[in-house]
Amino acid sequence: MTDRIRSLFNTLIKTRTLKVSEYKELIEGYSPDAREYAAALALLEKEKVYGKAVFIRGLIEISNICKNDCRYCGIRKSNHNCSRYRLTPEEILLCCERGHELGFRTFVLQGGEDGYFTDGVLCPLIEEIKRRYPDCAVTLSLGERSRESYEKLYGAGADRYLLRHETADPNHYALLHPSSLSYSERMRCLRDLKDIGYQVGCGFMVGSPGQTVDHLAKDLKFIEEFSPHMCGIGPFIPHKDTEYKDCSAGSVDLTCYLLSIIRLIKPAILLPATTALGTLEENGREKGILSGANVVMPNLSPEDAKAKYTLYNNKLTKGAESAEALELLKEKMAAIGAEIVCARGDAK
Ligand code: SAH
Repeated sequence: MTDRIRSLFNTLIKTRTLKVSEYKELIEGYSPDAREYAAALALLEKEKVYGKAVFIRGLIEISNICKNDCRYCGIRKSNHNCSRYRLTPEEILLCCERGHELGFRTFVLQGGEDGYFTDGVLCPLIEEIKRRYPDCAVTLSLGERSRESYEKLYGAGADRYLLRHETADPNHYALLHPSSLSYSERMRCLRDLKDIGYQVGCGFMVGSPGQTVDHLAKDLKFIEEFSPHMCGIGPFIPHKDTEYKDCSAGSVDLTCYLLSIIRLIKPAILLPATTALGTLEENGREKGILSGANVVMPNLSPEDAKAKYTLYNNKLTKGAESAEALELLKEKMAAIGAEIVCARGDAK
């Protein structure tokens, strides 16, 4: 690691801001040494705010039906090999019941943009989850909706919303998405969500097709400026039924380096060690936690839904990824000095 990289990290810790060109230097200056240096700093920052705590979220994949055709995504509309499913509100409530017994205090309802889940269906469901489990947070990850809809869902009791920005470069955004989706609309959604009062999560894939160091530097600047409560980043993984099937997957090590940098930009951010990280490497999630992540999202979906919610090849569903295996996850985390905490785990 060069003196320049070391001094950029020192500046970042003091000021929590760098120029886009400096973020670019940091990324280009990636080396195993730099990654370890960044991870050590990130762990210190995380401990100052959250101690050894790692928060858990119960992920419920409510539908893989989607009206969008995102080029990278396995559940994109034009993938006719995808076997479609949708959970009923009753099934979703059963997942919450199981999750609550297991110790989960946040439920994440994620899915494709499925027209079935209107505000008229979602609002009573959210109200019922909050009525039964007033000690729990409800997070939604259901894509782009109108401001009015976001307002209604918030009014029904939703606490948080995850909507990855995917890339902070409009041209790269246009490359990854169909023309029906736009960077400006994605930004509109993120601004509205924050404005309404949600705890908001953005995020991006590392190593997505066409991604350059300039794009990643812009992603970091975007996170610095937008200042989300949460940020989900994971490596891109190709899906066999997409045009990107032959592209290579993103790097676990670069993802970890970026996790550390994001922790240094925003010490109090909630940062998941994602399923994609655990899918590419056996100890990927542990590496993420040791790089500064402080959230894991075990899967509470019914087995059949887990198998069908195939965003990318070989998506991990077994072992500590499954909510039932919480004990295993606790052991794995304890082994690296982290402590699974059963609490809502709001951002500080
Ligand atoms: N429809 C919701 C949920 C999307 S799935 C929404 O739009 O927010 C959640 C995330 O999975 C996406 O935001 C995307 O960043 C990620 N994802 C999709 N396909 C992927 C792939 N092939 N590799 C890695 N991550 C992927």
